Amino acid sequence: MAGIYLHIPFCKQKCHYCNFFSLASVKRKDEFVKILMKEIDLQRDYLQGETVSTIYFGGGTPSLLSVEALQALLEKLTQTFVVSPEAEITLEANPDDLDPAYLARLRQTAINRLSIGIQSFHDPDLEYLNRVHTAGHAQKVIKHAQNAGFNKLTIDLIYGIPTLSNSGWIDNINNFLQMGINHLSAYALTVEPKTALYTRIEKGLMTPVDEMQAAEHFEILMEMMEAHGFIHYEISNFAKPGHYSQHNSLYWLGGHYLGLGPSAHSYNGLSRQWNVSNLGQYLQLDTISKLEPENEVLTVEQRFNEYVMTSLRTVWGCDLEHIMNIFGSKWADELARNVKKFIERGHMYRKNERFFLTTKGKLFADGIASELFV
Ligand code: SF4
Repeated sequence: MAGIYLHIPFCKQKCHYCNFFSLASVKRKDEFVKILMKEIDLQRDYLQGETVSTIYFGGGTPSLLSVEALQALLEKLTQTFVVSPEAEITLEANPDDLDPAYLARLRQTAINRLSIGIQSFHDPDLEYLNRVHTAGHAQKVIKHAQNAGFNKLTIDLIYGIPTLSNSGWIDNINNFLQMGINHLSAYALTVEPKTALYTRIEKGLMTPVDEMQAAEHFEILMEMMEAHGFIHYEISNFAKPGHYSQHNSLYWLGGHYLGLGPSAHSYNGLSRQWNVSNLGQYLQLDTISKLEPENEVLTVEQRFNEYVMTSLRTVWGCDLEHIMNIFGSKWADELARNVKKFIERGHMYRKNERFFLTTKGKLFADGIASELFV
C-alpha cells in the first residue's frame, strides 16, 4: 500500500510560526492546478503500480481550492494510479474557508476526511499565532462539517503558546472532547528560524515561548486524552480505536509515498526525493517534459536512525526483530545495550521484543532517539 501527498502552497495570510512552504497570495492558483495535473502525469511510474490507500491534500491551505479543482485532481489521480476504492482521502482545511455550501459540495467528492486547523479556541492565542479565523468561528465550523456528513474529522491544536495558561489549555482540550471528534493532532509551538515569530521574539515584540510551560501542557494533554479513551498512537496524535490517520501511519510505518507540488517529498523505500520549494520554478514545468527533483539515496545508517526516531514515537514501538532482520544482529545488540540506561531512568520500557517510551520518556523523545542513533 502506498500514499500520495499533494502540496497546495497558498494561504490567505502567513501565520507567525509557520515554516511550511506557502505563499500569502492565491494569484497563481489556476496555473498551479494545471501544472499539478502535469506533474501527476510525469510521476505516473513512481509508485510502480502499488495500490494507493491514502491521498492527502496538505499545504498551505488546500481548502482555498475550488471543489471543481479538487474533483479534477482526484479524477486525474484515479485515472493515473491504482487507487483503492476504500482509500482514505483527507483535505486539510482552515476554518475560514469552510462554509456550509462548500462543505456540502465537498462531501459529494471522494474526500472522506477533513483535518481542520483550529489551533486554539481562545482568541488571544489565535492573535498571537496570526491565524485568520476566530475562536467562535472555529466552534461553528466543526458543527457545520459534522452536519455535512464528515464523520472522519480531525483537528489540530497548538500548546505552549505564551497566551495560553494551563486552565486555558484544559479548556481547549475539553472543547475538543465535547465535540465527538475521534482524532486530535496536538503540537508544541516551536519557534523556527526565519519565521515572523522568531524575528518578533528576537526584537522583543512578542513574548518568548516557555518550554517548561509547553511540557506541562503536554503532560496535561496525555492525562486527559487517556482518561477519555484516546490512544496516544504517535507523539503528537491521539485517536479512538479504529480512527488512526492512515496517511500519517503510512509515513511512520515506512510505507512508500509520492509527494506532488512544490516542496513535496517522496519516498520509495531506498531514496527520498523532493520538489523545489519555489512556486515560480515549479510552474516552469509548463515548458519542460522532465522533472528533476533533488534526490538522496539513504545510507543504511540513515535508514536505521530514521526507523529508531519514528518508531519510538509511535504506539508500535521500536522492534528489535525488525532491526535484526533489516540491519543485522550487531545493531540490534547495540540498541538493546544503549536502551538500558533509559529503562533504568523510567523513560523507556521493553515489552517482548519491542521498546517503547514511557509517559515521562515522551517528554524527551527527540533527545532519547538521538542518543540511540548510530
Ligand atoms: S495556514 Fe498553515 S501553511 Fe498557511 S501560513 Fe498558517 S500554518 Fe502555514
